[in-house]
Amino acid sequence: MALNIQQIRKDFPVLSQKVNGKPLVYLDNAATTQKPVQVMERITRYYSEENSNVHRGVHHLSQVATEKFEEARKYVAGFIHANKPEEIVFTRGTTESVNFVATVFQQFIGEGDEIVITAMEHHSNLVPWQQLCHRKKAKLKVVPVNEKGELELGAFEKLITSKTKMVAVAHVSNVMGTINPVEKITALAHKKGVPVLVDGAQAIAHLPVDVRKMDCDFYAFSAHKAYGPMGIGVLYGKEEWLNKLPPYQFGGEMVDHVSFEKTTFNVLPYKFEAGTPNVCGALAMETALRYIEEKDIENIRQHEDEVLEYATGKLKKLPGMRVIGEAGKKTAVLSFVADGIHPYDLGTLLDQMGIAVRTGHHCAQPLVERFGLSGTVRASFGIYNTFKEADVFIGATKQALDMLR
Ligand code: PMP
Repeated sequence: MALNIQQIRKDFPVLSQKVNGKPLVYLDNAATTQKPVQVMERITRYYSEENSNVHRGVHHLSQVATEKFEEARKYVAGFIHANKPEEIVFTRGTTESVNFVATVFQQFIGEGDEIVITAMEHHSNLVPWQQLCHRKKAKLKVVPVNEKGELELGAFEKLITSKTKMVAVAHVSNVMGTINPVEKITALAHKKGVPVLVDGAQAIAHLPVDVRKMDCDFYAFSAHKAYGPMGIGVLYGKEEWLNKLPPYQFGGEMVDHVSFEKTTFNVLPYKFEAGTPNVCGALAMETALRYIEEKDIENIRQHEDEVLEYATGKLKKLPGMRVIGEAGKKTAVLSFVADGIHPYDLGTLLDQMGIAVRTGHHCAQPLVERFGLSGTVRASFGIYNTFKEADVFIGATKQALDMLR
């Protein structure tokens, strides 16, 4: 079913403003998405009617907040097809989720062990593993990326050895939009008994996510990349893993019993949620994911794919263009460089024409360097972007190139 994009755009008030005297064309969705009124209203309703701390009080509001918070957990579990709500830990976002696993996992890592990541990881799924390797004198192994921006699966298989203790891979690349074959990767890793963490930051708003089908051991994402608020995200972990791992932080409701000599810890998932959680964020994330569910992720995917394909085709016709990332399977992201032009200069001129794109290394510096570059221009699409906006973006790029050349 085709989405009514004009109707959807009415849900996002921020889109109807002018920037530098021109209608805003927001193409920085990979950095963060805009928020629909439904999410904003949910936040207002929480603070107007429901605000209280959770799991602590016998009073009415505390019970309401606790109930809603646990309902949100249940909804998120269903959204990504987790087995049970206990497998959903609320975090600040993808970065915290990865840091969490890379920290509590250190007891399983010894000198000479190996952690396998890929050459297309965001720094958030690279630096935590690199630092863990430094602490433990372990080795970070990197799966290469080919010219099209796809992982070299043959190399992947060879890099997983008896010393490998973890594989960490992006579901979708934030620079190139490449959709990685995560099901195949988990199968390869599990054949050798190695757990897999999938960074879903760029997948959650664009693809159906089924952690059971994927069979990943951990899945991380942020609400703000999926029309939800900032400061809230998820770490999914298989129950058997979460039970094996020690707490990440200490304090608050994550305990069972405390004495000065000893502390025992709460059950899942509370063992991992130290301190007052972002209750409002969890509720608003639920609303954002419900928004996606209502529009249907398959419809969203189809629309975004069509706009991406349209924009890519037109962009490639401009002189001196090089698209970075032309994987067979990709979504929502169009990265490029223009011969002889600094991405920053192009991005600045586009901004003057009301178009929001991202320039630079996109927190994936080794990947951008692998293509012999210091940065790209990145246009990234969301549910509300139109073909007309793609035309405006292409026209403005052409104009900017003429000016800069
Ligand atoms: N991984 C990927 C692939 C990303 O695109 C991002 C955000 N740019 C992150 C991780 C980090 O997400 P957050 O800043 O929400 O923690």
